Amino acid sequence: MANKKETMYDNVMKQYNKVADYMDLDPNIRKILAVTNNEIIIHFPVRMDNGDVEIFTGYRVQHNNALGPYKGGLRYHADVDVEAAKALAIWMTWKTSLAGLPYGGAKGGIQLDPRKYSITELERITRRFTYALGENIGAEHDIPAPDVNTNAQTMAWIADTYMSTKSPSERSKHQHVVTGKPVGSGGLEGRDRATGFGVYLTIRLYHESRGESLKGKTFIVQGFGNVGYWASKFLEADGAKLIAVQDAHATIHDEAGFSVEDLFEHSKPRKNSIAGFADDKEIDPKQFFGLECDILIPAALGNQITEENAADVKAPLIAEGANGPTTDAAEKILLENGVTIIPDILCNSGGVIGSYFEWLQNRNGELWQLDEIMIRLEKKLTGVFKKVENEVKERQTDWRTAAYVLAIYRIEMAYKQRGIFP
Ligand code: GLU
Repeated sequence: MANKKETMYDNVMKQYNKVADYMDLDPNIRKILAVTNNEIIIHFPVRMDNGDVEIFTGYRVQHNNALGPYKGGLRYHADVDVEAAKALAIWMTWKTSLAGLPYGGAKGGIQLDPRKYSITELERITRRFTYALGENIGAEHDIPAPDVNTNAQTMAWIADTYMSTKSPSERSKHQHVVTGKPVGSGGLEGRDRATGFGVYLTIRLYHESRGESLKGKTFIVQGFGNVGYWASKFLEADGAKLIAVQDAHATIHDEAGFSVEDLFEHSKPRKNSIAGFADDKEIDPKQFFGLECDILIPAALGNQITEENAADVKAPLIAEGANGPTTDAAEKILLENGVTIIPDILCNSGGVIGSYFEWLQNRNGELWQLDEIMIRLEKKLTGVFKKVENEVKERQTDWRTAAYVLAIYRIEMAYKQRGIFP
């Protein structure tokens, strides 16, 4: 039988089973956390601009809510399916637990290529999906947020649609049904940069622990969306140099470095594509992971660093801005080669921590200022980073294992305290 291509779900389960063995996880709790609580699949019709009706498929997978309401993004991508949503939901459970947030994990999205649709079509698709989800989401039940190819505008449509289904006197109570909204519609100042800032901060803290600064360090980024851009911007401000970028359309490399802002100005009006920015600096996409650099930041999709290219990696440090960019088999090779990986559930957790602040702000009717938010974010994430770092030292293990142990232990304790109903 031909080998089935490894999926993100295969990967997350391999990671989970390995750590469950390692930490001797209670066998009953192991069974519970191995399954996703709810898998919602919705087919819904939307009228296109040309008058035709198209049927779309949307997903919301809720993995676990032992620690609080389900939380996690919605992604619009051709590869979204129930398996992908399951994997990403499980990673959210670990991420929120590790960050000490009162949330569980969920993820969802719509299987489509958003580039093929107009803005008015995307609005109708989003609103109809929200309506179809109905009470499967809710401010105290399951709280979506942006993810790949969704943004503050998408969240504004979801909030508006969801709130419109409530009676007028109740509507404002539901504003925190989604996070990552535009600032004028209950969004948090700085939520847009929260994930990228967190990626940068974990890289900086890692260097600080080793008595090193970021000045003069070279970094390469896969994906120049929200996460890739903001992480690069913060790293550049500390004197690090962006020497290569890869996205679905182009791979560019220049030892002299690229200006993050120039690249952003180019890519923003082109749906974040870097194509055409530096045609004379284009290289074969296959060379990307093997480039000489100090820091490699995958900030695009899952399963990018695999058994096939892991041995090429020259960077001593990988900071996972994306969810699940490194396969389990690749990780084994990387660790053997002495590469350190700051795992996704730590590295990109600035986003969901920002979401938590937004949720609190809405829930308590408060308005937080940007400087105060960035201080809180830094403080929170630094605390989580130090915890993982200590665990790495105490257990003499890799960073992903340490982060998983802490995340899963917190959920294990919650189940042990409460027991299983009935
Ligand atoms: N999509 C982001 C993530 O993967 C943010 C999730 C959230 O804020 O709920 O962490």
